[in-house]
Amino acid sequence: MLDIPVLIVGGGPVGLSASILLSQHGVRSLLVERHPGTSLVPKARGINARTMEVYRQCGVEAAVRAAGLAPQSIGLVVWTESLAEKEIERRIPGRATPKNQAMTPVLNCLCAQDDLEPVLRRFAEAQAPGQLRFNTELTDIRQDAGGVDAVVTDRLTGTETPVHAQYVIAADGAQSRIRRMLDVRMIGRENVYDSVNILFNADLRPWTAHRPAALYFVEQPDLRATFLTINAHDRWSFLIHSIKHYGYTAGDFTPERCTALIRQAVGIPDLPVTVLGVSAWEASAHVADRYGHGRIFLAGDAAHEMPPTGGFGLNTGVQDVHNLAWKLAAVLHGQADASLLETYHPERQPLGIAITQASLENSLSMGRTSRQEAAKLPRAEFLSEQGLIFGASYESAAVIPDGTPLPDIADPVTQYMPSARPGCRAPHAWLDRSGDRISTIDLFGPRFVLLTGPAGGNWRAAVQALSTPSRPPLVAYMIGDDLTDPDGVWQAVYGVDDGGAVLVRPDGQVAWRSRGGCADAGSVLQSAFDAVLCRTAERMR
Ligand SMILES: Cc1cc2nc3c(=O)[nH]c(=O)nc-3n(C[C@H](O)[C@H](O)[C@H](O)COP(=O)(O)OP(=O)(O)OC[C@H]3O[C@@H](n4cnc5c(N)ncnc54)[C@H](O)[C@@H]3O)c2cc1C
Repeated sequence: MLDIPVLIVGGGPVGLSASILLSQHGVRSLLVERHPGTSLVPKARGINARTMEVYRQCGVEAAVRAAGLAPQSIGLVVWTESLAEKEIERRIPGRATPKNQAMTPVLNCLCAQDDLEPVLRRFAEAQAPGQLRFNTELTDIRQDAGGVDAVVTDRLTGTETPVHAQYVIAADGAQSRIRRMLDVRMIGRENVYDSVNILFNADLRPWTAHRPAALYFVEQPDLRATFLTINAHDRWSFLIHSIKHYGYTAGDFTPERCTALIRQAVGIPDLPVTVLGVSAWEASAHVADRYGHGRIFLAGDAAHEMPPTGGFGLNTGVQDVHNLAWKLAAVLHGQADASLLETYHPERQPLGIAITQASLENSLSMGRTSRQEAAKLPRAEFLSEQGLIFGASYESAAVIPDGTPLPDIADPVTQYMPSARPGCRAPHAWLDRSGDRISTIDLFGPRFVLLTGPAGGNWRAAVQALSTPSRPPLVAYMIGDDLTDPDGVWQAVYGVDDGGAVLVRPDGQVAWRSRGGCADAGSVLQSAFDAVLCRTAERMR
């Protein structure tokens, strides 16, 4: 019998990220993945800037960037009749405009999932040696008040190992066995449209190098397809959409048929093409009606499945476990009440629904769900979803409202207005530390952080009093003393005066804010910190 605080089921990007995050919080975990290794297929590629912020906090950003493509290789999105023939339109995604890039210290990154996962695996294994088991499948799971009993089976030898865990993260993908075993209801639409994804080698630079893009949509009366850039040279994915509306079944996609369709979409009848693999899949748009089930938490595609139009599936999943990891750590370390874990669902599921809906509307706007006679360009929101990437505002017991209203924005999908209102992502602002430029984002995770203005000495003293092993690590930075604010923007962006203070959670979301100074900083901060951790004298006894 293996006894482990957290069992992670699934070694996709979400499970691997969960392993890294838990290790950073000093929590032991065991990850099981039924396949012999990481993904062989470059499904996701777009790692958005919020996920890159998470990877920056974990020290993984540079390695992910090195495995991906330089931003100048992917700046556009292009629509064509065929790559060699008429271009219909090209757009610069809203996410890539200088105004939107100023919202964060990081750029988004194009890194194909089969290049990303080995990087994540390497970091996860370095932090938790021997605790990632591939070729190992979860085959049974039950839970009671004392924990979760699972059985994991070695797929090579058939050996079954019982595992007892305090908590389980079900990152076992869209067909989640755990979700089925728990009989979880999904809200939304299943199987909205069908597609095949063809991985192939061909040198497409003559038709792409002068207009480097992440996506090249091909619009022909009898073929709706997309070339997805993998290495901007000779490795590509070719996605054919809504195949049944054009008279195909998945079985029709032999290597010969795939080659013919790729040549048709490029517009070069004798183009040398090597087909490497073909996978058929159905895009669904549905979300679990509950993310937490006792001691088991759904994350990633197990919790929400969405069309890839917008590139949100992986990103939303990584951000799920970013939300969950610090909560599990605080509870397992005895620093928070177990009811803190109940905040995972109300914080993440509404966002999962909003993102799934936006991804579906992107695909509907492109006519992906039916046969179309003429090209249909997507709605303006497509790839301009700054609001969904940065604008999440949580409401739960782990956030203490300060009575201020939500930022006044017309469109929560495309617009993001930096705000340090409790529940929001603590905004990015450039600061200076001993001559080095540093973002506020670089101060967050895996600890709690209190940022104060230059007259916040009593808040800083209060932090020292709260720094005991019975509470999660908390550090204070006085802006104007420990760090300087050369642009003079921090107070305006964070909505505080000289004496104000902002408590930021390890996932970079604001937990609590005092807009001005306070005579009784010690007890005010202690009660806020304890409330965020769902600690009451009664519960923590
Ligand atoms: C064509 C395409 C393009 C996409 N583009 C993007 C994009 O640009 N950006 C983006 O964010 N997302 C994108 N996505 C979505 C993205 O691929 C998924 O959201 C992502 O893979 C989900 O990660 P996950 O870890 O939750 O699940 P998965 O990647 O499915 O991993 C789950 C893992 O669990 C394992 N598993 C399942 N059951 C068990 C068990 N019982 N025991 C042990 N292991 C088990 C599986 O083998 C699998 O490895 C795209 C998807 C497609 C198809």
